[in-house]
Amino acid sequence: MEIVALLALLAGLAVGKAWERYKLRDGKWIDRRRARDSHHYVLGLNFLVANQLDIAIEELSQAARVDADALEIHLILGNVYRERGQVARAIQLHQALLQRPKLTRTEHAYVLLCLGLDFKRGGFVDRALEAFNEVLRLDPDNQYALLYLQKLHEEQHQWDDAYRIRRRLVDLTGPDTNGRSQAILGFLENERGLEAARSGDLDEAARRFDSALDLDPTTTPAYLNLGDVRQKQGDRNAALNAWERLLNASPERAYLAFDRLERAHSAAGTPHKFEGRCRELIADNDRDWRARLALGRHLAQRRDFAAAFDVLLEALEHNPHGLMVHQAIWNVMLEVGLDRQHVQRYIEAARDAVFFMDPHVCVKCHYRSTELLWQCPHCHDWNSFVEERIAPSRDTE
Ligand SMILES: [Zn+2]
Repeated sequence: MEIVALLALLAGLAVGKAWERYKLRDGKWIDRRRARDSHHYVLGLNFLVANQLDIAIEELSQAARVDADALEIHLILGNVYRERGQVARAIQLHQALLQRPKLTRTEHAYVLLCLGLDFKRGGFVDRALEAFNEVLRLDPDNQYALLYLQKLHEEQHQWDDAYRIRRRLVDLTGPDTNGRSQAILGFLENERGLEAARSGDLDEAARRFDSALDLDPTTTPAYLNLGDVRQKQGDRNAALNAWERLLNASPERAYLAFDRLERAHSAAGTPHKFEGRCRELIADNDRDWRARLALGRHLAQRRDFAAAFDVLLEALEHNPHGLMVHQAIWNVMLEVGLDRQHVQRYIEAARDAVFFMDPHVCVKCHYRSTELLWQCPHCHDWNSFVEERIAPSRDTE
């Protein structure tokens, strides 16, 4: 992300610079191409693209010496220092550039943008905010400044500000083809709703969650949160309605609402409705192991162990790695007294499953294998496999 932004910034500078290739300085026309056309500059950029920052710095420093006035070289040099983690040095370099007389408005904005990134990298949040806001004062349509401001506000959990900035960015760039910018607005609106709920303003919270779903109907957590707020307000039907909407809008995330739906339907005396919804999901998507797991647990709770066992074995068929499925099956087997026939069926189902018997993973490209390999079939690196072990849950808690 950082390096891409850096290169985009370079491209922007090059365009902005093209028209002032020749610049009148102290009454003389100076060929600004001199420094940029030096082989040091070109080499420096090449090493930068290859992510060889140390050599890039060396070459760019040489280029800067050829033409001490070339603003962009110093700007880039500062950026590379920042990328390498030498934030103080980057700040010093960029601040020195701000002292230059006769900076154009565009140049001024670019230097401030780089300085803002230095501050952000160094953890000086307030100064970064200040720098990016100053960029926007000079150049109100600066998308980089808006994006970095949004990120900073998100990091500070300042959701109102983040939303406001994001809205400005979306208005500026127009709707994108993949709907990503609307989706982010939806998530920010959802966070504003959570904030309102935390402060006890449930009506405001519900409004925010509704608005998040208007912005983007795939803002999954907003359905859950809207239902939770309605439940807190004592409106069970509205809560059920919100969670039901999640099942329709994103069936692949439906399982997030299962516990809530099951509890609410039990409380309402309509447990068969929960069972019916699970069966609908399975009918719509034969591979839905989560709906089968929920249905299996639900049936087991109602002591219909034969039906529970069947549906759980089906779940196992579709997700043989899911420990939750195995656990649900163990519970049913215990309930029926480890009856020999049940145990036999479980062992057979698990034997046919495509387990990674001895999971290994390539540390270079994350390719997975069922055994230790000496050369990765995906990235072709040698001796790059390590045993893959998931830490026991108590270690990660
Ligand atoms: Zn690999």
